[in-house]
Amino acid sequence: MDIKKAKDRVIKLREKINHHNYLYYVKDTPEITDFEFDKLFNELKTLEQEYPETVSTDSPTQRIGAQPSEKFEQVKHRVRLYSLDNANNDEELIDWYNRIKKNYPDEQDIEIVCELKIDGLAVALTYKNGLFEQGATRGNGIVGEDITTNLRTINSIPLKLFDTPEELPDTIEVRGEIFMPKDAFENLNQRRREQGEQEFANPRNAGSGSARQLDPRITAQRKLDIFVYGAVAPERSDDISSSHYDNIKTLGNLGFKVNPDTKICKNIEEALEFCQKWATEKSSLKYATDGVVVKVNSLKKQHELGFTSRSPRWAIAYKFSPEEILTTLENVEFRVGRTGAVTPVALLEPVRLAGTMVARASLHNADEIERLQLRIGDKVYVKKAAEIIPKVIGVDLSQRAEDSKPLAYPEQCPSCGHMLERKEGEVINFCPNFMGCKAQIIGRIEHWVSRNTMDIDGVGGSLIKQFVEHGLIKDPADLYQLTKESLMDLERMADKSAGNVVKSIQASKDRPLGRLINALGIKYVGKETADILGQMYSSIKSIENASFEELEAIEGIGEKIADSIINYFKNPDVLDMIDKLEKYGVKLKQDIEKVDKSKPLLNTNFVITGTLSTMDRKSASDIIKDMGGKVTGSVSKKTSYVVVGESPGSKYDKAVSLGIAVLDESQFIELIEKLQAGGIDEVNE
Ligand code: NAD
Repeated sequence: MDIKKAKDRVIKLREKINHHNYLYYVKDTPEITDFEFDKLFNELKTLEQEYPETVSTDSPTQRIGAQPSEKFEQVKHRVRLYSLDNANNDEELIDWYNRIKKNYPDEQDIEIVCELKIDGLAVALTYKNGLFEQGATRGNGIVGEDITTNLRTINSIPLKLFDTPEELPDTIEVRGEIFMPKDAFENLNQRRREQGEQEFANPRNAGSGSARQLDPRITAQRKLDIFVYGAVAPERSDDISSSHYDNIKTLGNLGFKVNPDTKICKNIEEALEFCQKWATEKSSLKYATDGVVVKVNSLKKQHELGFTSRSPRWAIAYKFSPEEILTTLENVEFRVGRTGAVTPVALLEPVRLAGTMVARASLHNADEIERLQLRIGDKVYVKKAAEIIPKVIGVDLSQRAEDSKPLAYPEQCPSCGHMLERKEGEVINFCPNFMGCKAQIIGRIEHWVSRNTMDIDGVGGSLIKQFVEHGLIKDPADLYQLTKESLMDLERMADKSAGNVVKSIQASKDRPLGRLINALGIKYVGKETADILGQMYSSIKSIENASFEELEAIEGIGEKIADSIINYFKNPDVLDMIDKLEKYGVKLKQDIEKVDKSKPLLNTNFVITGTLSTMDRKSASDIIKDMGGKVTGSVSKKTSYVVVGESPGSKYDKAVSLGIAVLDESQFIELIEKLQAGGIDEVNE
């Protein structure tokens, strides 16, 4: 880049960064993510380093924050507040440590302190003779906003210090971070949603916005909190103690809330361990943190190391990798699952996100594509949902190419070409070609061999694909007629491996009934429902013969699941497959002996109403629960028995009107005694 181009870009970047700083710090309504902001900021920093003639004192790289808002009285800080330099990965943290070490060639290691970096609003609290006098925001580090009245409403900020030891200076300034705990943030946003108000983008902006309200009564309602992480004595040249860690301990003793997870580390290895631990465990915290602040512990060394124009040299913020990132949508693949559901998957330009490389992300369904208005080539935001599966959450429309075209959702199955269908009220398109669609066949067999179902070791996706491509199998039952000889033509299949494959398939023939039901892959029947059915029924045949009413009455199985089970067993291809399974010796029945005799009330629901004379309700409930039953508070079609004591309420009338079995106290005790004596196996049999 020539100098002219560099200058133009620098001017553009500064304008952009100033605009976003204002929105973030003054208005608390950022328009871009922190990740994008940091990218702009780093680009400017790099350009200014490469072309030093572009540096000017008003550049955002030389300043921190933004001008304080005029809504508040302005406070000139007695001791300047700084920002922190960032380390975006382990190497950058190690580089920082090595730079510090160079100043102390005689020392083997430099003691450092690791603290969680609280994602909130920096404040300076002034105490005079033990009393809280003034609280100000960091602002631009030189001038902040006076928010004393608001800060007085925060319970964890002491208005009077516990005790003021003699050596404590008359005036101390305590620095800390105001934040909004995650649950308070969720509740606040929910209320704002309900009232049609704009939600806060994140706990940081919610916390900052709440602390900077003109009406302190609003701040008081927002459940703000603080962690303090430092103190200075503006009127004295010495420190309140000799190390940063001791400072924090003193602050705790004075009544301030300090973070309990602060740790002294002997060397950089221990600090890296701390960073890695919290990068994975941060979601367990009740507040948001975006990194770890690593500080040199000795205050003497801190003075020696000093500051740059923006930040101390003796501290650095190790930033956790972002959970949200911007990347390019290269294509969308439409996958056909084992139930025939066609789901879009975003193929992305690979990016590192929260510790892993991400190249694919879920798009869920056609409505989601519609909602996001996606186009190939778009810059999209990707986030790890529940920290595991990446998901596309938004599009940066400002970066859309002019000639891009809306995405078309296919009308035909991408695997077999059959016309897709969409049932009323559903958001997913289905391929109805149950037996002829290779993608569905492969998907069903993959599901059949997986760990939670028939658990067939050594048979994975690529082998199954070969089985189907070579016409060896059409459904899971066909697996059981495979012989060693029939496998010998397949790629990379030797005598021994073919033998092992056949052996592990055969070994899966007598899996428990619940697993077999799960393996069938009935729509809406997952592991939990399959286990319930496996406990209730003694064979696949008995489930096949069950009526809709019978299935629907089972706790945990609603109308939708019952309907799906009935439809599944109406399919002649399914019945053929079950016949084949039986013929090949796969166990389709369950030894009723194996049903847990100690839990004879499994899947039986009780409601207790009125006063019992020989025991209280809690004891009756405990007996039922011990025997595997459930006690609920209201009578419904799924209630098995209503136990009625003296002066029963409306629950009795409801039981009678729904035709549910009613037991008086003596009948209830009789039932329990019989079950305990093993007189009846199960009440549902
Ligand atoms: P920073 O948040 O990266 O780090 C400095 C701050 O960390 C300190 O001022 C202090 O308030 C805080 N902190 C928290 N815990 C601490 C601890 N234990 N010890 C010491 N300090 C601690 O720097 P910054 O200048 O406040 O903000 C810059 C960040 O804000 C950037 O990373 C950027 O992503 C974000 N930002 C975003 C936008 C946007 O539009 N999205 C705009 C401006 C800034």
